[in-house]
Amino acid sequence: MIDTLFYNARVLTMDSARPRVTGVLVRDGAIAAVGDGNLAAPPCARHIDCAGAVLAPAFIDAHCHLLATAARMCSVDCSPAAVRSIAGIQARLREAAARAKAGSWIRAAGYDESQLDERRHPTRRDLDAAVPHHPVRLLHRSGHAVVLNTVALHLAGIATDTAEPPGAVIDRFADDGEPSGLLFDMDDVVDRVVPPLPYDELAPAVEGAARTFLAAGVTAICDATHTNGAREWDLLVRLQADGHLPLDVTLMEGIEHAGEMPEAPFPRLRRGHVKVMLHELGGALSPDEDELARIVADVHARGRHVAVHAVEERAVAAAIDAIARAQRAMPRPHRHRIEHAALVPRGGAARMARARITVVTQPAFVFEHGDRYLREVPPEKHSRLYPIGDLLLADGRVAASSDAPVAAIGALEGLRAAIARRTRAGAVLGPAQAVDFEAALAMWTRAGAEACGLGATRGGIAPGMAADFVLLSEASERAEVVAVYVRGELVAPVPVERPHLRT
Ligand SMILES: [Zn+2]
Repeated sequence: MIDTLFYNARVLTMDSARPRVTGVLVRDGAIAAVGDGNLAAPPCARHIDCAGAVLAPAFIDAHCHLLATAARMCSVDCSPAAVRSIAGIQARLREAAARAKAGSWIRAAGYDESQLDERRHPTRRDLDAAVPHHPVRLLHRSGHAVVLNTVALHLAGIATDTAEPPGAVIDRFADDGEPSGLLFDMDDVVDRVVPPLPYDELAPAVEGAARTFLAAGVTAICDATHTNGAREWDLLVRLQADGHLPLDVTLMEGIEHAGEMPEAPFPRLRRGHVKVMLHELGGALSPDEDELARIVADVHARGRHVAVHAVEERAVAAAIDAIARAQRAMPRPHRHRIEHAALVPRGGAARMARARITVVTQPAFVFEHGDRYLREVPPEKHSRLYPIGDLLLADGRVAASSDAPVAAIGALEGLRAAIARRTRAGAVLGPAQAVDFEAALAMWTRAGAEACGLGATRGGIAPGMAADFVLLSEASERAEVVAVYVRGELVAPVPVERPHLRT
């Protein structure tokens, strides 16, 4: 393969030894040299004039849900962008049922009760009124709640006397105490009865999702789904082998499935952290503090890395405690992760840095949910919501992520929110936590690569690293993605074959 010289660029290398250069030489998909001038490029090298644009390492999304994103693309869209009322949801479900085979599942997703005219979750009565005969599963935008109609509830075996599994909630009608169809964190139960999408339906959706990531400049992702195991590994191996998955993927392993995935990577697929869910429900944690500490110590002792899902203050505090205890009892160079850390307890930033914890957070939520936080969270806590500035100041590691499909695929919205702390309505949330462009970019590149175990080859521009780049219009919160390269080859905008011109 011929060499490629990217020149006339403002290269942000994310390498403190040599932060700024103007050129990068690529050979066989990897970076061969970094510097200024022509870098001893052979005369036959292909030259790409970057016209003064910013060349940065490609983005890494350190926490998203690829298969869920693809599944959502195969579902009836009930997101706020598509529908704003329960009547609207009913109309869409009715339409889908009219086209579906008798008795087949109707999958719908993306509703957000706070964005519906009725300001409430739909119930099974609402769904039954639209679709009485097919089982219906309507997923909440967050993925943590689901509404089933009556047929689906029966199939899932959820009845009046069904006990709630730990950490889950079965909502009930106020009038008769019967399950309302709304379930929180019961995907383990629901997934058992909803048949998986057939491969030939799923594969194009996965490929579509992967191409959306690529177009947004994201070339490596970590799938953080807590139910991942051998089944998901085998599926992704098949998708990559069939050419449907043109991304580097790190697959977390759910704690229930720890040890199922092979340690040896498949070419563009590797096993990641062990995922542990930690919920705060009615003032209690599930699992409780002691149980969590035991789980974390056990994963740590086995030499694996743990990633604890912890959103609220008490959960984040418990996750820090559990990891710090495990590290004290058996010091290891491991960097365990806390996912989300939306509300960090007082002093938490310094404690996380000391315990070598990497926080993998979603700065775009400042934009997406900031107005709700400003209304609902007491003002004295505002500066501890997504406190990226404090975490970095404490010398902590922070990686950014989209959590797609919870939020849209792509890095720019999160990049802007980390810099400006602006909400959708234009308010500013916790301005003291704002960071500059390069710190925000580091969260989407170097820190993301390290969080995914890819730090040696991704997230920076230095000899030996993969030539995965984004070309940005400028180095500010107004940056737009101009072009995306994987292993030195243009992948977005999708290159068009130029017709041969006769002269
Ligand atoms: Zn997630």
